[in-house]
Amino acid sequence: MTFGLLDRFGRRATDLRVSLTDRCNLRCSYCMPAEGLPWLPKAEMLTDAEIVRLITVAVERLGVTEIRFTGGEPLLRPGLPEIVAAAARLRPRPHLALTTNGIGLDRVAPGLAAAGLDRVNVSIDTLRADRFAQITHRDRHSAVLAGIVGAAEAGLTPVKLNAVLLRGINDDEAPDLLRFALAHGYELRFIEQMPLDAQHGWSRELMITADEIQTALATQFDLTPDPSPRAGAPAETFLVDGGPGRVGIIASVTRPFCGDCDRTRLTADGQIRNCLFATEESDLRTALRGGADDDALAERWRRAMWGKRAGHGIDNPEFLQPARGMSAIGG
Ligand code: SAM
Repeated sequence: MTFGLLDRFGRRATDLRVSLTDRCNLRCSYCMPAEGLPWLPKAEMLTDAEIVRLITVAVERLGVTEIRFTGGEPLLRPGLPEIVAAAARLRPRPHLALTTNGIGLDRVAPGLAAAGLDRVNVSIDTLRADRFAQITHRDRHSAVLAGIVGAAEAGLTPVKLNAVLLRGINDDEAPDLLRFALAHGYELRFIEQMPLDAQHGWSRELMITADEIQTALATQFDLTPDPSPRAGAPAETFLVDGGPGRVGIIASVTRPFCGDCDRTRLTADGQIRNCLFATEESDLRTALRGGADDDALAERWRRAMWGKRAGHGIDNPEFLQPARGMSAIGG
């Protein structure tokens, strides 16, 4: 019987973000330091079989209908195609998506599509190779572009692009990024920079706000609110020049949407997070390895979600940035 992942405020989590690794082959400055981070020891990471077991519990017993694989960089996980295939065999079949930096995606996209992946989000903050290297500390811009093309050719559509704008670095590129996305049939989403970098360097003054993004886009496009229902989606979407092209803005900081949040998160080391900004996690790995049955795992997961706070509280004076950064939580 499915009771669902409810919290005290009546929200129900149906969208599961699964981090497959905390490692990444880029070093985006707003996510992690240039020198990288101490990665999780292998023994602490869930095995492929353990991940499949937990997502089976989530779908079959807890009402999860959507799974998004993320990280770190999920394409670095060797067992990714098998994990996707196992998820695609679940009933009711969940919708399966992947958030990736796109490096190597052109090679693996056909296999992932065959395994049952429905679509991808690819992160690309700039159309300029020099800026890409500046932001990510790696010279891999052309690999990302190839990955985006490969995903579209493999039918992992709609391909959504994620972009974070950084003051003084790529904040003049909003219209160019949108023109690029529209020209190729990709759906672009701008994400406000959040206080989730491992080095705790975020500041409100440096963040490019949703208002600024809208203003920049309005210099070259006519944006009107998208009449289609948002249904818990983090992005507020706009029709571009009357549609059908669209653009989204994920304004987690300046226009929080916590009241409609339907997400639950599983980290690569088997912790449940009920919020991106939670400062506490609930350990499923120890229970799993200690022999807990599926009912017991489901009950722990339910309890973890019940305690979800009403909002992320970034504006509260007592706000504490989570100890783990975005790459370890799973973005
Ligand atoms: N490696 C994959 C990728 O690049 O998409 C998946 C993980 S990454 C953490 C997921 C998304 O989080 C990316 O679009 C990235 O730009 C975004 N991200 C990382 N740190 C962020 C931050 N501090 N604020 C806003 N978005 C962030």
